[in-house]
Amino acid sequence: MISGKNQIGDELSSNSNISFQTFNPKLNIENKITFFEASDSEILKATKLASNAFRTFKLVAANERSAFLTQISEELKLISEDITKIYCSETGLPEARCLGELGRTINQLISFSKLLRDGDYHEISIDTSIPDRKPLPKPDLRKMLKPIGPIVVFGASNFPLAYSTAGGDTASALAAGCPVILKSHPMHAGTGELVSSAIIRAAKKTNMPNGVFSNLNSRGIEVGVKLVKDPNIKAVGFTGSLKGGRAIYDLASQRSHPIPVFAEMGSVNPVLIFPKKLEKEYAELAKQYAKSITVGSGQFCTNPGIIISFESDNFNLFIKKLVEEIEQISPSCMLHPTIYDSYNLGLQKIKQNKNVSELTAEVEENDKNFPKHVISSVNADKFVEDKSLQHEVFGPCSLIVTCRDDKEMYKVVESLEGQLTATVLAENNDTFLTQEIIDALEIKVGRIIFNGVPTGVEVCESMTHGGPYPASTDSRFTAVGINSIKRWLRPVSYQDFPQSLLPDELKNENPLNVKRNINGVIT
Ligand code: NAP
Repeated sequence: MISGKNQIGDELSSNSNISFQTFNPKLNIENKITFFEASDSEILKATKLASNAFRTFKLVAANERSAFLTQISEELKLISEDITKIYCSETGLPEARCLGELGRTINQLISFSKLLRDGDYHEISIDTSIPDRKPLPKPDLRKMLKPIGPIVVFGASNFPLAYSTAGGDTASALAAGCPVILKSHPMHAGTGELVSSAIIRAAKKTNMPNGVFSNLNSRGIEVGVKLVKDPNIKAVGFTGSLKGGRAIYDLASQRSHPIPVFAEMGSVNPVLIFPKKLEKEYAELAKQYAKSITVGSGQFCTNPGIIISFESDNFNLFIKKLVEEIEQISPSCMLHPTIYDSYNLGLQKIKQNKNVSELTAEVEENDKNFPKHVISSVNADKFVEDKSLQHEVFGPCSLIVTCRDDKEMYKVVESLEGQLTATVLAENNDTFLTQEIIDALEIKVGRIIFNGVPTGVEVCESMTHGGPYPASTDSRFTAVGINSIKRWLRPVSYQDFPQSLLPDELKNENPLNVKRNINGVIT
C-alpha cells in the first residue's frame, strides 16, 4: 500500500538510488518500508508542475477550492485506520494521540473550506474615481489579496498530521490558491505518503490541476535546500527547530529573488507564578504543571520550559511537589533516537552549568528513547546573565527561576527572547501582578495565558500561534487558525480597470457577494 515513492503531481516516482527507512522508537528497530529520496530531476519536475498548476489553480473559484479541501478531509477519514497503524509505528505515539491529531487536521481542513464558502479574507477595498478632483483627478483603485504562488511546506517531526502533509500550512496554502510541495519529514515518511495519497485522490475527484500538490521524500536536508532555492517557489512554510528554520530563512533571503519564509520554531514558554496563587493552590498547580511538562514526552513547542516566581515557603512547597509529581509519572517514548539524544545533550549542558541545580533524582534509564523527567533550578540573576539557559531543550524538562523581588522578576521578563506563549498564574489582586509586567510580557510573546497551561493550542480565529523571533520569523502572522491564510496572499491593486477585466470580487455588481470596503464604508 505504501510505495516509498515520491508523489509528483498525479504520478508516483522514484529515480534516485538514495533510500532510507523510518524508525519505530518503541521497538527500537527500523520499519520495513524503503523510501526513495527525491532526485534533482524529480524536484525540478515537481516545482515546474506546481508553477504551471498555479496558473489555473489561482483561477479556480473559491467554492471549488472549498470542495477540494472538504474532499481531502473525507479521504482522510476513509483511511484513518491505515494512518493510525503507520503513525504509531513511525512515532512511538499512542493511538489516542494519532486520532486526536487526525481529528484536528480534519477540522482545520473543514474550517478553511468554510472560510472559502462564506468567509471574507480578501481584504477588498475600492476607492472610486473623482475625475474632477483638483489639482489632480483621483483614479479608480480596487485592491484585493491574491495568492502568492507555489509554496514549499516543511513538516514537523512532532506533529506528523496537524503540522505536516495535510496540516495547517498545506490547508491554508491550498485555500489561498497556492499549489503546495511538501518536503516530507523523514521520521514519518509513511504517514506522509498515505496522507499525500488522500490529497491526490481529492484533487482528482474535484478536478484540480495536476501539480496542485506534490510530496517529496528526503533522508537529509538537501532536498529542502534545493526546493527553497528553486525559482518556481514563492514562499516557504516551516515548523521545526530554530536551527532549521533560521537556515532556511537565510537561504531564502540569499536567493537572487528572496521569498518570505514563515518559520514557526522553538520556544521555552515562560510561566510566572504570583504569591497569592501559590498560597491558595500550590499543590494543584504542581500537579497540573507536572502533566503539562511531560505530556507527549515534552515534545511540544508550547512546553512550559521556564517557571518563574519569588523566593518563599510556598514556592518551595510548589517546587517540592512538582518534583515529586514529575518523578511519579512514567517516562513515555520520544519520537526518534536522534530527538532522545539531543534531549540528553541539552540536559547535559544544563547539568554542566555551575549555577544550575538538578532537583529531580538521578534515575537509571531502562528503555532507550524513554527519557527521564527533569526539573532544575537557577537564581534569577544568573538566569539573566546567561542566555544559553533560554535555549529550548526539546523534551520533558523545565527550569525553575527564583527571583528575590518584583524588580528581579521584571529583569527576567525583560531578558527573555521572543516566545510563542507566556503564562501568568495569579489571583486577580495578586501581589506584584502589575500592568507593567503584563506589558513587558506582551512585547515578548504571541499569546498570554491567564491561569492555565501553555500546552494545547485551540484552533480558532482568535488564536495567535507565532511570536517575536526566535519563536517565529514573522511575528505579524499566525500559523494556526483561519488567519494563517494571510501568509500566502499578497495585495494587488487594479487602477482604472475596465469592469470586464476586473476579478469578480472587484466588479461593481459584486457577483460573488463578498464583503467590501467602498470609499471607507463596509458593504
Ligand atoms: P527540525 O530538525 O528543524 O526539522 C524540521 C524540518 O526541517 C525537517 O524536514 C528537516 O529536514 C528540515 N531541516 C532542518 N534543518 C535544515 C536545514 N539546515 N536546511 C534545510 N532543511 C532543514 O525540527 P523537528 O525535529 O522536525 O521539530 C522539532 C522542533 O520543532 C522543536 O524545536 C519544536 O519546538 C519545534 N516546533 C515548533 C512548532 C511551532 O509551531 N512553533 C511546532 C512544532 C514543533 P531533515 O529532517 O531532512 O533533516
